[in-house]
Amino acid sequence: MHSPGVVGLEELAVPTVGDGHVLVRPIANGLCGTDLELIDGTIDEAYVRYPLTLGHEWVGRRCVQMNGELTDGELVVVEGIIPCGLCEQCQRGATNRCAIYDEIGFTRPGAIATYILVPEHLVHALSGDVAPRDAVLTEPMAVVWRALRRASISPGTRCLVVGDGTVGLLCAYLLQRFNPKSITMLGVRPAQAELAQHAGVTEFVTSPSGERYDVVVEAAGQKAAVEYAVSSADRGGIVVLLGLPAHGTTIEVAPDDIVNNDLTIQGSFSYTRTSWREIVELLNEKVLRPSFLITHEFTLDQWVDAIATLRTPDETQPRGKVLVMLDEVSSEVTRR
Ligand SMILES: [Zn+2]
Ligand SMILES: [Zn+2]
Repeated sequence: MHSPGVVGLEELAVPTVGDGHVLVRPIANGLCGTDLELIDGTIDEAYVRYPLTLGHEWVGRRCVQMNGELTDGELVVVEGIIPCGLCEQCQRGATNRCAIYDEIGFTRPGAIATYILVPEHLVHALSGDVAPRDAVLTEPMAVVWRALRRASISPGTRCLVVGDGTVGLLCAYLLQRFNPKSITMLGVRPAQAELAQHAGVTEFVTSPSGERYDVVVEAAGQKAAVEYAVSSADRGGIVVLLGLPAHGTTIEVAPDDIVNNDLTIQGSFSYTRTSWREIVELLNEKVLRPSFLITHEFTLDQWVDAIATLRTPDETQPRGKVLVMLDEVSSEVTRR
């Protein structure tokens, strides 16, 4: 992507391996709404640097040099946020808030590529029996996990997830780890009900009920959804804002309700090194198997269709994670 809207497929040189960096061959990339914001140029410009190669939700194989040839090594996921490790925020463990924002797929080349160069200390190996289609969801799971862990959710709570997209579905899936009493999902597409059930949703609704909940997670990233989330929290409730409305969006809330209802409203940005590591551990222990959320797979040369599917879902079909697969494509490119 040379600038917003200028997207294409280009042949670039294989990155040169330098100090503390390793070469990884991506196998699959998930696309998400943030990729659309990068393409459209609607993302806050503090979080992007063009020209840019897309791809921040991915799994790959570490490249190993053998007799001068690159061959596939172990299956890995790589933390995308590159913390400086020295600033006050990093020292506190809040690596998501590092003073120097630097992230794969945003300020440095992403993984929708044949090869990617990554800092070695951010590479996490997966055990041999973890499926790449489960591991490709590490990044969005780490984002959701960080938000839920931060909210200190007690067991037995009544939860509401606003939004039926992949973040909402992953949210329901990971909320189960907190032993909630129930998980209601307020969606807009009835076709998502089946995926929601798979994700552990106990009740899928498409119109607001007026009921109130102990934990409300906003995962739609829309003005009305944020406003509804805040108004749906029971007294003493926690509202977690996970969706990312377009930069510049404002909401209307009644502050006296926030005070009177003793609410906690919590934002959460991306993931920390800790939340990423915990998700990798849960994948390696086979506790997490989120691949049921993958509904669409495209090859690299079908990237236009992949983006179109993400942008305009077919309302009659369930749509979970959209993947761009690089496996076959990359071996072809190497031969050429
Ligand atoms: Zn994403
Ligand atoms: Zn830092």
